[in-house]
Amino acid sequence: MLSTQIRAFLESEAFPLEPRFLREPFSALLPELARLRAEVKKRGLWAPHLPREHGGLGLSLPEFAEVSAVLGESPIGHYLLNCNAPDIGNQELLLSHGSAEQKARWFEPLARGEIRSCFAMTEPEFAGSNPVWMDTRAERDGDYYVISGHKWFTSSADGAAFTIVMAVTDPDAAPHKRASQIIVPMDTPGLVLVRNIPVMGEAGSDYASHAELRFESVRVPVSNRIGAEGAGFALAQERLGPGRIHHCMRWLGIAERAFRMMVHRAATRELAPGEVLGQQQVIQHWIAECRAEMDAAKLLVLDVAERIERDGAQAARDGISLIKFHVAGVLQRVLDRAIQVHGALGMTDDTPLAYWYRHERGARIYDGPDEVHKGAVAKRILAAAGMGRKTEDGRGARG
Ligand SMILES: Cc1cc2nc3c(=O)[nH]c(=O)nc-3n(C[C@H](O)[C@H](O)[C@H](O)COP(=O)(O)OP(=O)(O)OC[C@H]3O[C@@H](n4cnc5c(N)ncnc54)[C@H](O)[C@@H]3O)c2cc1C
Repeated sequence: MLSTQIRAFLESEAFPLEPRFLREPFSALLPELARLRAEVKKRGLWAPHLPREHGGLGLSLPEFAEVSAVLGESPIGHYLLNCNAPDIGNQELLLSHGSAEQKARWFEPLARGEIRSCFAMTEPEFAGSNPVWMDTRAERDGDYYVISGHKWFTSSADGAAFTIVMAVTDPDAAPHKRASQIIVPMDTPGLVLVRNIPVMGEAGSDYASHAELRFESVRVPVSNRIGAEGAGFALAQERLGPGRIHHCMRWLGIAERAFRMMVHRAATRELAPGEVLGQQQVIQHWIAECRAEMDAAKLLVLDVAERIERDGAQAARDGISLIKFHVAGVLQRVLDRAIQVHGALGMTDDTPLAYWYRHERGARIYDGPDEVHKGAVAKRILAAAGMGRKTEDGRGARG
């Protein structure tokens, strides 16, 4: 019912705006997007992931997963309902761990969609796949932190009201207890947005961009720290479990729309009078393979969402890693085949396919590259089979 309502809204309001989204800077669309966000509130669809007392629909993670797949069918779907990354992760973090003051100043306006936010963790000089290794420092000076460092790929920093920065607060602590998450208003002196980084040739603007940031002796009150000092990685881990469900379902929404476009093109594109592309066996095989991969992926993601809801993210960690790389691969294959079926049209911005192909290539890199997730799962499987365990004779265990 809710999914049907959201689909109807996307078809009547979001899809018609997409040609402008694909050709104009995101900032040029802001007045129209604000109008549509007001319409979303009027229809009672706002912030499906947030509790009702904070203006949302109070959906569980599996329920929101279903909604997220529908929203993924438009590149502006999540934005219109205020459940877009990185705001959704920051909302959930502040709601669970923010102080009363942080909630009033940052969470509430974020939940109402009056401001945007971003999350600055990755640094160009350090491997993001090893999240405990970073250079950005937050040094205590009385009741203030003085933050210095260099971040990049801070998504949606352009136009954001604040960032949550991951910075080392105790370099002598154990690696997972060195860093803290600290709120920094974007207009704080010393916080410099160096550039929006071109991604496959497109720098984007506003929400649809990824920035390079410099923190040059940026002073913020200690009360801007979220949670305990040194809790930065534990908090980051916590946001990543549900966050990967959100991403995977959004990717499956993209795949679903690309699939529909591929099928329509195959059914109607004539190779010769009366002979359509879909009559070719190779195209039929792609269609069947895509359908099977997408349906199987969806069941896997929903199963992991149920497990997170029931047993928590730690208990579901293998499943979370499996869906992260598996669904990113399914998305990439579906998009690639959809573009191929569209021929030259697939390379243009006359359809959203090329936009997704450019911007979702990163799906195999952000929130943990494929190889890291595969390695993590495989090592636990191998450890359970005895790899690395010493036997009484001092040799490794055998299966
Ligand atoms: C579109 C996009 C949006 C992003 N948004 C944000 C954001 O909002 N905030 C933020 O802080 N960061 C963001 N990031 C950064 C992202 O989190 C990092 O790119 C990611 O953590 C990988 O780090 P890296 O780029 O430094 O790659 P590296 O760590 O240098 O890894 C490079 C490659 O090495 C390989 N590799 C790495 N480790 C292993 C291993 N253990 N075994 C085998 N191979 C391995 C993988 O193939 C990997 O792709 C974003 C990135 C992209 C692409």
